[in-house]
Amino acid sequence: MDEHLIERAQREQDEELQRLIASRVQYQGESLAECEECGVEIPLARREAVRGCRLCTECQAFEDKRNAGVRLG
Ligand SMILES: [Zn+2]
Repeated sequence: MDEHLIERAQREQDEELQRLIASRVQYQGESLAECEECGVEIPLARREAVRGCRLCTECQAFEDKRNAGVRLG
């Protein structure tokens, strides 16, 4: 196969990957110290891991399910 074609294919794959990563970023900015939903304190580790997170782990899981279209009652 032509080397230029391989390079191009790899570059396109990289760009696709970058787009996927970018589209997964849900929040921007500062994380909240307390959950927006239930007011529980969000652990520092989570606040640092999830940039701009607004929900505690439980509420986030609930929200993720809702976003995925799962009906919870
Ligand atoms: Zn919560």
